[in-house]
Formats: sequence, C-alpha cells, structure tokens
Amino acid sequence: MQPAPPPANEEQRLAALRSYNILDTLPEQAYDDISLVAAQICGCPIALVSLVDEHRQWFKSKVGLDASETPRDIAFCSHAILDPEQLLVVEDARTDKRFHDNPLVTQDPSIRFYAGAPLVTADGMGLGTLCVIDRQPRQLSSEEHTALRALSRQVIAQLELRVAVTELEASRELLADSNADLERFAYVAAHDLKAPLRHIKGFAELLRSELGDQLDAEKTEYIEFITSSADRGQRLIDDILAYSRLESVGEPQPVLLHELLNTVCAGLVPAPAASAIEYAKLPAINGDPGQLHQLFENLVGNALKYNQSDEPNVRVESGASDGGCWVTVSDNGIGIPEEHRRKVFDMFSRVHSGSDYQGSGIGLAICKRVMELHEGTIEVSAAAEGGSTFTCWFPTQRIVTGHTDATDRYSTG
Ligand code: ADP
Repeated sequence: MQPAPPPANEEQRLAALRSYNILDTLPEQAYDDISLVAAQICGCPIALVSLVDEHRQWFKSKVGLDASETPRDIAFCSHAILDPEQLLVVEDARTDKRFHDNPLVTQDPSIRFYAGAPLVTADGMGLGTLCVIDRQPRQLSSEEHTALRALSRQVIAQLELRVAVTELEASRELLADSNADLERFAYVAAHDLKAPLRHIKGFAELLRSELGDQLDAEKTEYIEFITSSADRGQRLIDDILAYSRLESVGEPQPVLLHELLNTVCAGLVPAPAASAIEYAKLPAINGDPGQLHQLFENLVGNALKYNQSDEPNVRVESGASDGGCWVTVSDNGIGIPEEHRRKVFDMFSRVHSGSDYQGSGIGLAICKRVMELHEGTIEVSAAAEGGSTFTCWFPTQRIVTGHTDATDRYSTG
C-alpha cells in the first residue's frame, strides 16, 4: 500500500477546508441528494462526499456506507486530491500497487472500482472528492465522467452557499446589534439629555421670576435666549427620538384620514385661523395611526409655518391613481425652489433660514420614512397658485375600500 503524500499546498488547503466550517456537521439533504444522483448515474452501490482533513477523510454525505470517516493514510481520496484537475479512476483496486493491500480493499467495504472527482475551490484547492465506489471491477464511461465532474461542482456551490448564508447571518446580527445601539442611544438621549435641558430652562425661569424688576430689557432678552435655546434642544431631541422609533408599521388598522386630520388640526400650536385648512373626500388608509398622525402633523404644520400669506390656506385632497391613491397637502406659502425639492426629505435638511423659521430639519425625513413603511412614496412640487404641494402615494393594499369620506370642509374656526 502506498499512502498519498500531502499535496504541495497542504497548509493553505487545510485552512481553506476549515474556513467552510463544514467538518463534523450534521447530514444535509442537498449533499445527500448529490451523492444519491452520483450513485444512480454511475450505477454504483456507494457514493460519498469526502473531505480530506489533516489525519482523516470525513464524509459529509454517504450512500451505501455506514462509516462516517476513515484514516487519511488509507483514503483513496487522499490520492485523488493530488491532482485537482483530474478525476482519479481505479478500475480494479486489486491490481493497483497503491491500493491492492489497502484494508478498504482487502476487507469491508471491499473496494474494487473507485472514481473520485476532486472538490476544487475557485483558487484551486482540492478539499476532497465526490466519489463513487463499486465492489466489482468496472470502467467509467465518458458520460459518467462528465456527470461526476458536474456534480462535484454542485458540492462546491453548496459549500459556497453555506459561506454566503453564514456571512449574511453575521451581518444581520451586526445590524441587529447596531439597531440595539441606536435604541440605547435614543434612550440615553431621552433621559440623560432632556433632563439637563429641562434644568437649564427651569433655572432660567427661576432667575427671571427671582430677579423680576432688577432685570433690564437686555438681560431679560438673554434669559429668553436661554429658554428658547433649551426649547429648541428639547424639540430636536423629540424629533430625533420620533425618527428613531420609526422601525416598522405596528398592527395596521383602518385610519379614516378626515378624522385623523380633525385631531391633527385641533392640536396645532398656534391654532390656525378659521377656515385655514380644507379637505375633501379623503380615503381610509390601512396603516399605523400614530405614524400617519406624525405624517400629516408635519405636512399641515409646515404648510402653515412656511407661509407669509395674509390668509394662509391649506388644502388636503385625494384621488385614485394607477395601483393606489394619492393624498396631497397644498399650501399658498413661500414655496420650495426646484433645486431643493429632492433634498428637503433628507435628515437635518433645511431650505429656509433658521432665524426666520424654527425647526430641526427632521419633520420631512419622518414623513418619508412613514411613507416607506407604508410601501408608499412622497414628493413635493410647486402648487398651482404658488406655495408647495406634497403628494403622498399609497398602494392599493393600503386603501380601505368603501371608506371614502365625504366631508367637504374642515374649519378650525
Ligand atoms: P423643519 O420644518 O423642522 O425645518 P422639515 O423636515 O419639516 O424640517 O422641513 C425641511 C425644510 O423643508 C424646511 O426647513 C423648509 O425649508 C422646507 N419646507 C418644508 N415644508 C415646507 C412648505 N410647506 N413650504 C415651504 N418650505 C417647506
């Protein structure tokens, strides 16, 4: 018997084999199917997916054999991997000087015929073989040769798939970790950043009431700066928290948009002028009520905020479109120059100066996220009579049929 010498690239080959994390794993249908097909195509009672480890050959899959591994020095596959480009075919092991006195030939399973197609990685490493074995001497036809080669490539494809799935799972875990970090950040922001801001505001107000008359106009203004900065900081934190909580649509439920708008309008500060907001024939959306409230609160709030008209006017309208329905919020406000219309939906993006209009630049990022979570879209265009029109599009599956509301007009007056 002649045990096979280790291949020249043995160290790298073993490293490659171990990188697949396949040794000593449980049987898998995909590999068993390949062995079965190999055995049937070649008409052999035994077929194996054999991986050549440092001191053993281990069978990832086996047909017609009970053993799960054998020592490497008696393995036919150790010879097969010496030339990964070629199939090793032994027609009658009894007459081959490498194998005639091999215990696998002289004893069970009494190998006579062996054909092994090396399992070759993309960088040429022979990890093992897909082999077929018979207890009778025989030959391998060219069709069987081709089929065995093709099936050995399928084994490698399975191994690569395994690596890809493992990497995908690892990055999913990483993503889950960073989401958890974000949530922790949001928690810290909520509790550890808001408290000092509250204290700053509280002490500024205490100063104002304690010092009362002693404060001249300039100092009163300084205290107001402190208070309004603390307010801005709190709003910013609230907006970031609102955005970070937008992870998925909760249990969807029918949301009647006219009712939702009634609530939104009633909560606006400062309260808008009478008849400033009109809406008609709005659908019901199957969605997350809290998120849809945030959407319309931001859109209607902005329509009134970015508005210098003597008679601010906001219209909420709706109509059917291919595969869904649109809801628009239009205003007669200051409008958004065309070159900025795309980027207003980005986090922290503000077009109009902070000193004229207060804000965090997060509201429209929230709107975009809410629409994405409802499988819809949002875009902005110029309103016909000046101002802006924000168009939210919802897909059909989000529309609750038979629930179109016929309210003509909502007046906050
Ligand atoms: P914020 O209002 O807090 O600044 P948003 O994300 O809601 O943030 O809006 C981003 C920017 O888009 C605003 O700063 C403003 O410049 C512009 N914008 C939003 N809505 C309107 C609107 N209805 N009319 C004019 N400009 C708008």
